[in-house]
Amino acid sequence: MSRHFDAIIIGTGQAGPSLGARFAEAGMTVAIIERHKFGGTCVNTGCIPTKTLVASAYAAHVARRGAEYGFAVNGDVRVDMKRVKTRKDEVSGRSNRGVEEWLRGLKNCTVIQGHARFQSSHAVVVNDEVLQADKMFINVGGRASVPAMPGIQDVSVLTNSSMMDVDFLPEHLVIVGGSYIGLEFGQMYRRFGSHVTIVEMGPRLIGREDEDISEAVREILEAEGIQIRLNAKCISLAKHNSGVAVSIGCDEGPPEIVGTHVLLAVGRIPNTNDLGLDRAGVATDPRGYIVVDDQLQTNVAGIWALGDCNGRGAFTHTSYNDYEIVADNLLSGDHRRVSDRIQAYALYTDPPLGRCGMTDLEIRKSGRAALAAKHPMSRVSRAVEKGETQGFIKISVDAETKHILGAAILGTGGDEVIHVLLDVMYAKAPYTLVQRAMHIHPTVAEFLPTVLSKLQPVA
Ligand SMILES: Cc1cc2nc3c(=O)[nH]c(=O)nc-3n(C[C@H](O)[C@H](O)[C@H](O)COP(=O)(O)OP(=O)(O)OC[C@H]3O[C@@H](n4cnc5c(N)ncnc54)[C@H](O)[C@@H]3O)c2cc1C
Repeated sequence: MSRHFDAIIIGTGQAGPSLGARFAEAGMTVAIIERHKFGGTCVNTGCIPTKTLVASAYAAHVARRGAEYGFAVNGDVRVDMKRVKTRKDEVSGRSNRGVEEWLRGLKNCTVIQGHARFQSSHAVVVNDEVLQADKMFINVGGRASVPAMPGIQDVSVLTNSSMMDVDFLPEHLVIVGGSYIGLEFGQMYRRFGSHVTIVEMGPRLIGREDEDISEAVREILEAEGIQIRLNAKCISLAKHNSGVAVSIGCDEGPPEIVGTHVLLAVGRIPNTNDLGLDRAGVATDPRGYIVVDDQLQTNVAGIWALGDCNGRGAFTHTSYNDYEIVADNLLSGDHRRVSDRIQAYALYTDPPLGRCGMTDLEIRKSGRAALAAKHPMSRVSRAVEKGETQGFIKISVDAETKHILGAAILGTGGDEVIHVLLDVMYAKAPYTLVQRAMHIHPTVAEFLPTVLSKLQPVA
């Protein structure tokens, strides 16, 4: 038995559902297949639940600082992890149900639950049924990487997914991996009341960022009592009476940390190994990411790959932008391309880091003449008023064109304020536009002209 559709979408992450809705509205028949939870990573185990937990952790942190703001909390601030989890589950669950109900309510759209595997380039098998389509869209996302480090089979480790079931306070959470996911969980659990140690193999945290950002984030986390162990080589795990012993072989400090729980946050891998891509003839790179062109088409005509599985982005907004590119190109005759987008993302520590464009290193490597300026948040009045003065703003511009090349705002509101600069970059307007605009007082954004007035040539 087989059914035929105009389009088959595999996965209901951040691209699939919107794509399905747009196709269905255009009158195409669509089958959308999901093997697990509707909404995928962001909705169920990624952005939405973690940012909900970050909000609980922030509230606890502010409550502990009550005296600074002029109020008293009777007794210690204690976090009820069951209620924290319930709040997270409610927010995340609403989104998950919303995606499913939306898809099931769409005319022309058939929702199928099950694992899809390619049978050929234009047919997949789901629950023993063959589904065929002229156009296939792969939006299968990724999962936490669990590398084969020594001892891993002997202990139980947490990932970002299993962390979602935690409704208790780990006494000592050891986080292996000092990048974006590890840092968000680290600060959050420290604020919930756990002892937290972050173990990072590299010489600094968030190694893709500029050194001054890594350093400032390290200082912020250490000031809250988080232990950070860098240059951890040869990480191995073993059972211990108190939980798990993590051997780290660092140049400095004790060679072993004993924690009650271990969270592995060492990267993500694409869900492409169980899709039958070989039967469809779809090419992947050595890490399993589906190879796509600038318009997200794979090497096989009529098959596109969107979201984390194509290796062209690892964020909700990059996956959603993939949907916009594919939908506009196929339905509106547009010529949108991945290479048109400007790198932008945030790290949701407190204060957050908002980033857009190139890093300092990328600018230096590009060899272009640049101007740069840096301004501490301690001299941003809005930050002072809020009592949140950690971090800095830094902006780089092209000395000739005056276009903004890159920026980082590590500071209160940094995840929002960065968009002022990002939109000017998209407008391909010179930075002087920001200087001449009248901004609202008191905001962090009103200081952007001040920062830009300090631009100096980069050596
Ligand atoms: C802890 C954490 C925090 C994050 N925080 C942020 C953040 O703050 N901001 C941000 O922008 N990004 C964040 N991300 C990244 C973000 O979640 C992902 O980039 C985003 O979800 C990508 O979605 P996607 O569309 O590629 O697919 P996914 O959301 O991963 O969804 C893929 C779906 O496909 C399904 N599927 C897979 N294989 C099959 C198959 N064979 N058959 C049927 N269905 C299948 C899966 O079950 C899943 O539902 C975070 C990620 C993590 C892990």
